[in-house]
Amino acid sequence: MTKPALTLYLAAPRGFCAGVDRAIKIVEMALEKWGAPVFVRHEIVHNKFVVDDLRDKGAVFVEELTECPDDRPVIFSAHGVPKSVPQAAQAREMIYVDATCPLVSKVHIEAQRHADNGLQMIMIGHAGHPETVGTMGQLPDGEVLLVETVEDVATVQVRDPGKLAFVTQTTLSVDDTADIVTALQLRFPGIVGPHKEDICYATTNRQEAVKAMAPKCDAMLVVGAPNSSNSKRLVEVGARAGCAYAQLVQRASDIDWRALDGIRSMGITAGASAPEVLINEVIKAFSDRYDVKVEMVETAVENVEFKVPRVLREPA
Ligand code: SF4
Repeated sequence: MTKPALTLYLAAPRGFCAGVDRAIKIVEMALEKWGAPVFVRHEIVHNKFVVDDLRDKGAVFVEELTECPDDRPVIFSAHGVPKSVPQAAQAREMIYVDATCPLVSKVHIEAQRHADNGLQMIMIGHAGHPETVGTMGQLPDGEVLLVETVEDVATVQVRDPGKLAFVTQTTLSVDDTADIVTALQLRFPGIVGPHKEDICYATTNRQEAVKAMAPKCDAMLVVGAPNSSNSKRLVEVGARAGCAYAQLVQRASDIDWRALDGIRSMGITAGASAPEVLINEVIKAFSDRYDVKVEMVETAVENVEFKVPRVLREPA
C-alpha cells in the first residue's frame, strides 16, 4: 500500500537549551564524582524521560531538602530555588551543587538589586511554577508581588507606585508578556525593569521558529512535558500563529493519529527540556505511516554554552 505524502516541517531551534544541557551534565558529573546516590531537589528539568534516565544512573529525586540525608550531595534543579534552600543546606553542612540556569540566576540578582535600591518587586510569572517560587524566594516572604495576566495588573496593590520594579519568568509567552509589561508601564509609568523582559534566548527562539512554521502546517506537535512551561507556551504560540491543531505530546505513543487524518503538512518542535531522541521517535512514527519529506524551518542558530560549576571540574 502506498503511503500518503506528508511534508514534515521541523522547527529550528527546538529542544534542549544550554541551561537544560548544563543541568543534566551537573547530575551526571556529580554521580561520577561522588557515586550514587546523588539527591536532586525537584525534577532537574521538566522531562520524565530525562528524569527516569538519571534515576537509573543513581539520582534520587525529592521535592524538599528535608527528604535528603546530610551526608549525600544534593543538586538544585535548573528552575532555581528560594534563598532559604541553599541556606538550609549550608546549615546542615551538606555538599550541594546549584544547577539553576545562569539566565535564571541573572533574574535573581536583578530582583535583589532592585530590592537593595528600595524598590518593591513585581514578578510576571505563573503561580506555583518552581522558577516563580525560586525567584520570589530571593526576597523575604510577601516582598514580591505576582502578576499572571493583564487583568492582575489592574488590581495589584503596591506600597508606593513610584518605587517599583519588575522581573519575569524566563519561559513565558513573548507576546503575552509584552502586553503585561505595557499594562504595568501604563499603570505605573516609573516602573523599572529589564530592557524588554527576562524571557531567555531559548524561549524566544523556539517561539519565533513556531511562528514561522505554524502557518504552513495543517497540524503541529510540540514534544514536551505537561509541566514544562516553555513547551505549553509553544502550543499556544502555534495555535495563535494559525495552526488549526496544535498539541503537546510527551513521545510518539501520545500521538492521536485519528485527529491527524487527512493532513498533508505537519510541524514538529520541542520544548527546551525535551531530548532529541524523543523528537526522532516522533519523526520515525510519521515516516512509518507517511511518505515524509522533511523541511527545516530555521529562524536562528544557537551556540550558547554554560560551564558547569567549578566543584565538578575539580578532581574529587
Ligand atoms: S529555558 Fe532558558 S532559562 Fe530555562 S534553562 Fe533553558 S536557557 Fe535557561
